[in-house]
Amino acid sequence: MYINSLAYAQSQDQQDPLHSFRNEFLFPTGENGEKLIYLCGNSLGLQPKKTSEYIQQELSDWSKYGVEGHTDAKNPWLPYHEFLTKSMAKIVGAKPSEVVIMNSLTANLHFMMVSFYQPTKTKYKIVIESDAFPSDKYAVESQINFHGFDPKDGLILWKPREGEELCRFEDLEKIMEEQGDEITLLMIGSTNYYSGQSFPLEKITKLGHQHGAIVGFDLAHGAGNIQPNLHDVNADFAVWCTYKYLNSGPGSLGGCFVHERHESNPELKRFTGWWGHNKQTRFNMRHDFDALVGAEGWQLSNPSILSMAAIRASLDVFEEAGFDNIRKKAVKLTGYLEFLVNELNDERINIITPSNPDERGCQLSIQVKSADKSLHTQLTKAGVISDWREPDVIRIAPAPLYNSFEDVFHFVERLKKVLN
Ligand SMILES: *Cc1c(COP(=O)(O)O)cnc(C)c1O
Repeated sequence: MYINSLAYAQSQDQQDPLHSFRNEFLFPTGENGEKLIYLCGNSLGLQPKKTSEYIQQELSDWSKYGVEGHTDAKNPWLPYHEFLTKSMAKIVGAKPSEVVIMNSLTANLHFMMVSFYQPTKTKYKIVIESDAFPSDKYAVESQINFHGFDPKDGLILWKPREGEELCRFEDLEKIMEEQGDEITLLMIGSTNYYSGQSFPLEKITKLGHQHGAIVGFDLAHGAGNIQPNLHDVNADFAVWCTYKYLNSGPGSLGGCFVHERHESNPELKRFTGWWGHNKQTRFNMRHDFDALVGAEGWQLSNPSILSMAAIRASLDVFEEAGFDNIRKKAVKLTGYLEFLVNELNDERINIITPSNPDERGCQLSIQVKSADKSLHTQLTKAGVISDWREPDVIRIAPAPLYNSFEDVFHFVERLKKVLN
């Protein structure tokens, strides 16, 4: 179905209804001013051209109004996060009341576990996928420890089998059959950062719930990449960052999902702050805490408006393009990457990521046996921005909003040169 030629790649770009969105982004350039081939949106998404205008608006209103900007700015700061809710809810498949932008990813993971990890003496274990992002593992271990348990006993890893790279659902079923009575939380990355494997969220949620466990997802590599349908898969909670596929800039604020069945559940303890308090009486500081209903009730602090302006700029691009279209293009574009890499016919190369489009987003993790980091250095010299994971994996993520079939073609050509 695909053809290995530049002319074919260019014709695919011409037919691509999203092709013009590439012009809405700023591309890093090399020493001679040439556009680099940027395939690293899984780590830090590119800057939309709109972003500086959106941030400038808030800087300008801050200079004009000072504190009055909270109510008088063109986009008043007090409810600013609400301007993001609808588009963000669409991207993760949630109801607006289930979603809030706040803090950053690991912080949100902790705040969610404060509410959703309430272990008892007999049911206290947490399952994560092995090769979970280190930050998630540290967070989970420290929560187990905080509650007086030993992570060596309390943390269960869902691992690929010996000699395999991907996790099998049957093995998670087995863990639940054997230890389900002791497991209280499944905390899984929707799309694994290392292998690029996307997990069956609905099946995992059902399985967890059958065993009386809470199920939460980390969408760091899922948000803006796959459609997690959080509400329908019935997840209890989820967290994500917005600087990877959601293009909102380094260290930008994170997102949080709490399923509506928990929106005012009095049994969920939480850490609180004034921003989670009833908006009507928030500034009358003598009231007892009165939690907002829904995900907003988990907010603590007034959030960074400059960061939210960047998120808003990016979400507006997503709205214009339409997430279904983005996903459709991703399937084609990543399929083309896979096709070309396989065409190399190089025995050293093994694509770890599943080849079924339903089990992956746009990233392919390409293992190059006996390679070391110099491969990555050479690719960088050849004008490709990619991402290296020890011991021998390059992660390549053609982001459908700004990468083209031609990008993918040139990348594989350069990879071929470097490998020879
Ligand atoms: C990127 C990423 C993080 C980073 O966490 P921050 O709190 O945003 O620094 C954490 N977990 C996963 C799975 C990631 O992919």
